[in-house]
Amino acid sequence: MTTERSFVREIPEIPLDNNDKNDTSKTRNDVDVENGRGERFPVKQASFGQDTETSEDASSGNSSAEEDEQSWISWFCGLKGNEFFCEVDEEYIQDDFNLSGLSTMVPYYDYALDLILDVESPNDDMLTEQQHELVESAAEMLYGLIHARYILTSRGMVAMLEKYKQCHFGRCPRVYCNNHPCLPVGTSDIFRTATVKTFCPKCEASDSQDIHFPRSKYQGNIDGAYFGTTFPHLFIMTYGYLKPQRSSTDYVPRIFGFKVQQCLPLLTLTYTEE
Ligand SMILES: [Zn+2]
Repeated sequence: MTTERSFVREIPEIPLDNNDKNDTSKTRNDVDVENGRGERFPVKQASFGQDTETSEDASSGNSSAEEDEQSWISWFCGLKGNEFFCEVDEEYIQDDFNLSGLSTMVPYYDYALDLILDVESPNDDMLTEQQHELVESAAEMLYGLIHARYILTSRGMVAMLEKYKQCHFGRCPRVYCNNHPCLPVGTSDIFRTATVKTFCPKCEASDSQDIHFPRSKYQGNIDGAYFGTTFPHLFIMTYGYLKPQRSSTDYVPRIFGFKVQQCLPLLTLTYTEE
């Protein structure tokens, strides 16, 4: 790797939109620390076996060898709250063509890329602890932006299909969708604009054009740009057989058993004005 790497002192903190009900003034690191997860991206070698929430780490004494072999990508996708992410093929990441434009968007780009691909560089030892943290945060950002591109490829679609079949993206909260599985969607393709939402194909089939907040507060703090605005719609178009039937029942608002008429709000408005 080249030694001519320039450091960006701080990763710019651009607040997410205020329309999100999640506390978007905090980074995921902040949220995780508040919830007792500790540091979001600890130095990898030090992190294995120290996560107090992964009970299997403590229970299996021979797990350290397996963990040493675990890739950064597997480790990252296995973190609590990262269930929406699929594992991006390393071959895809190693192809510079697929990463075009990202080097100008992500600070510590070369270091972050090395971290994602488990490439050990002697220059890593020159980083301060604070710089390590910035690199780890940048690696999350870089992986997310790569992920948004990857899931639009055929291999990425297959990976997301497996997760969809296993309901890794949660289920629709709408009653008449009968717990139909959802897909992740971003309301913007620009990083740090809005958090990820869930899209329900059955809602769409029922002309209920809406998206939802993820039920998990961890998932709810993931950036929507890591999934993008295109994915769920291209996914349903690609796997047309997954498009659900329109739900046979729709909710009908009633007052004392009578259907609420559309003109009722106008009458109420008139009464209020008088
Ligand atoms: Zn739905």
